[in-house]
Amino acid sequence: MAAVITFFPVGNGDMTLIKLESGRSILIDMNIRQSGDGIRDVSADLRRRLDTDETGRPYVDAVLLTHPDQDHCRGLIEHFHLGPLADYKQPKSGELAKIVIREMWSSPIVFRRTPKDQTLCKDADAWRKEARRRVNLYKANRKFAAGDRIQVMGEDRDGKTDDIAEIVVKAGKTITSIDGNTDTAFRGRLLAPKGQGTDEEEERRSKNHSSVIVRFSVANGEKLHACRFLSGGDAMVGIWERIWADHSADTNTINYHLMQAPHHCSWHSLSYDSWGDLGEKAKVSPDARKALGQALSGAYIVATSKPIKNDKDDPPCIRAKREYEAILSSVNGVFLNTSLHGGEDDPVPMEFDVNATGPKLRAVVKQAATSARSLLRTSTAATIPPAGIGFPPRPVTPVKPAGFA
Ligand SMILES: [Zn+2]
Repeated sequence: MAAVITFFPVGNGDMTLIKLESGRSILIDMNIRQSGDGIRDVSADLRRRLDTDETGRPYVDAVLLTHPDQDHCRGLIEHFHLGPLADYKQPKSGELAKIVIREMWSSPIVFRRTPKDQTLCKDADAWRKEARRRVNLYKANRKFAAGDRIQVMGEDRDGKTDDIAEIVVKAGKTITSIDGNTDTAFRGRLLAPKGQGTDEEEERRSKNHSSVIVRFSVANGEKLHACRFLSGGDAMVGIWERIWADHSADTNTINYHLMQAPHHCSWHSLSYDSWGDLGEKAKVSPDARKALGQALSGAYIVATSKPIKNDKDDPPCIRAKREYEAILSSVNGVFLNTSLHGGEDDPVPMEFDVNATGPKLRAVVKQAATSARSLLRTSTAATIPPAGIGFPPRPVTPVKPAGFA
């Protein structure tokens, strides 16, 4: 079956699942809020798209956390297993099974002490602890056991990642393996973070919402680049300017058929000026716009945000939406918003099938939102039955050491 990329409706937040042709899954961020009152149970939506292992545990092959803000990691502790796989507890009656993260893809947050003036939310702190546990196991054993894998996205400063170079993907290099297996159904070019510079620059970068930025290539058959998907977390204008400086000579590394509008369609991914203060006088950064403007023919840009209103709000920002629509107008592209997909009152997950000719938006099939817990009340099963989205059995891929060309 062709690969599918799903954006879940999580308000101003991110949660995207890439299901590859190989059957492997990559979850980018999560924002699993308490459902009800118009908030969809995206935990149920996610679970019905995941496979279970031989002992019935649902799992994701890789989870990429772009950065440790709450709207990108909410629900980690409640829905995912953390700690050694040997400690996995099967759910009691009425409980949901925890989802296993076979491999973490983490920024170098794992090595950072929490700055005094900043606190990580509980979910982000749990991510950091789990990432440290996995890195420390690798340092001790120089190999991984199941459920302990991690790849670090970007070098840290001061040579802090030099002794684990085998599990670090440097900016500009590509991610080619998932959970220890080379997977030819995808490639991920890491564009940021770059992990260099002084404290002052680091300070400036964190204000710029340093995020892991990956330009994925998702394959259809022999066509590795069937869908180029640019995922940039909450990266803001200064980061995009630097990406343009690094990649303007060869835009093949940053162009896209599908892009998530960074930072929930924030104006500050395109400009240093305040939209709220300056309105139409606010100026676009030409270089950031070029970095974000490499849309291929028929491209989609998806705002993972609340509905975008014609007001001073930011994010999402109406002026940012207008810039993206202008970028798309020259390539016959389409701008979409996760909060409107299937109707503003009850949005549904937005799915793209990766065809040989590129991503194609799947028609909305309106189904009553299902609650993971309501399913439990009528069934003793701890996991949610699949919703007819079948994937062929996973081909056996020879295990090779993770290599980063
Ligand atoms: Zn965010």
